[in-house]
Amino acid sequence: MSAAASGPVIGILGGGQLARMMALAGLPMGLRFRVFDPHPDACAGEVVPLTLGRFDDAVALERFADGLSLATFDFENVPADSVRALNACVPVHPGSAALATAQDRLVEKTCFNALGIPTPGFVAVADRAGLDTALAVLGAPAILKTRRFGYDGKGQFRIRSAGDADAAWAALGAQATTAGLILEAFVPFQRELSAVAVRGRDGSFSSWPVTQNWHVDGVLSISLAPARVAREVEQQAIAHVRALAEHLDYVGVFALELFEVDGRLLANEMAPRVHNSGHWTIEGAETSQFENHLRAVLGWPLGSTAARGHACMLNFVGAMPDVRALLQVPGAHWHDYGKAARTGRKVGHATLRADDPALLAERLERAASVLGHGVQVTRVVAQLHGNP
Ligand code: AMP
Repeated sequence: MSAAASGPVIGILGGGQLARMMALAGLPMGLRFRVFDPHPDACAGEVVPLTLGRFDDAVALERFADGLSLATFDFENVPADSVRALNACVPVHPGSAALATAQDRLVEKTCFNALGIPTPGFVAVADRAGLDTALAVLGAPAILKTRRFGYDGKGQFRIRSAGDADAAWAALGAQATTAGLILEAFVPFQRELSAVAVRGRDGSFSSWPVTQNWHVDGVLSISLAPARVAREVEQQAIAHVRALAEHLDYVGVFALELFEVDGRLLANEMAPRVHNSGHWTIEGAETSQFENHLRAVLGWPLGSTAARGHACMLNFVGAMPDVRALLQVPGAHWHDYGKAARTGRKVGHATLRADDPALLAERLERAASVLGHGVQVTRVVAQLHGNP
């Protein structure tokens, strides 16, 4: 018998921390990986072989596909044409239809509404006059966003009153033809939630408990799971992700970001991949989002998405804190992505876990004295004590 490894080989488009955590989840299951990324310092390249190439280089992608069992993503802005070309060589999950929907905020929100998933009001903006028309329809405050290529709050301009229209256009107008623009009504939400779900190749479906998220400057800072939401809100969220997964014939893990306003949910956007607000599942759920994504794309049975107690994920943006101080907190788990420190860059995260909310609150307060998440930790602790 040959001594060579024989498990499936999975190609991941994008070699960031999501690919790295996916590979770290899959290696114990006998899976092998290769990642494709334009950056030589892509952090998944520290744990699995990295192929350098541009996402719009269909020829390089086809070469990458050679020897793979299947391909998946850690980055959704791969051109749909490249994905179609890749799919001719090797099965790609999720498919190009789901990606194309998630890549364009206008297409995405139109799809949500068609499925009966409510969204903030929105109007497409083609030119400067179109911005005035959209503002007349939606009123202010509103947010002008690029339809494509935006992430972590980038490609957005908050319009507080109609007088801000010129400034918004100066900031984003140049992208009207390249990325497209959309104006969205500003939602005075009480909470930001996300539903992370998984659908298998056989249509099996499961979702993790809804997560509450806190952002700073459009970047995720803290996630708490299970979110302390009313049963009806949880059920609404699950119904939305299920409808979306079935409509898109989705295979793999995805996230739906939601605003909660007076007990109602409005969908902001979907991410057709494992998601930052699902990192808590590594220690806080029976099966992590990374393992279940792999099981789904391989056509393997899905694992339980039940929570193991209560978990809070704290993102490290810019630089890592002191590992020894944080790990003194019981129930703390440390994740360093091996990325160079840089302003605004996600470089790692920690997850605190506890069997009950009061204990998690206590652990969070201890962690807050080490980390810079002070003000927000107070809000998370209030949630854990049942005071939204
Ligand atoms: P996005 O890139 O669409 O996920 O937006 C980043 C963050 O901006 C969200 O997590 C919200 O905190 C905020 N945001 C985006 N859209 C809206 C909206 N329509 N109303 C209020 N806040 C928003």
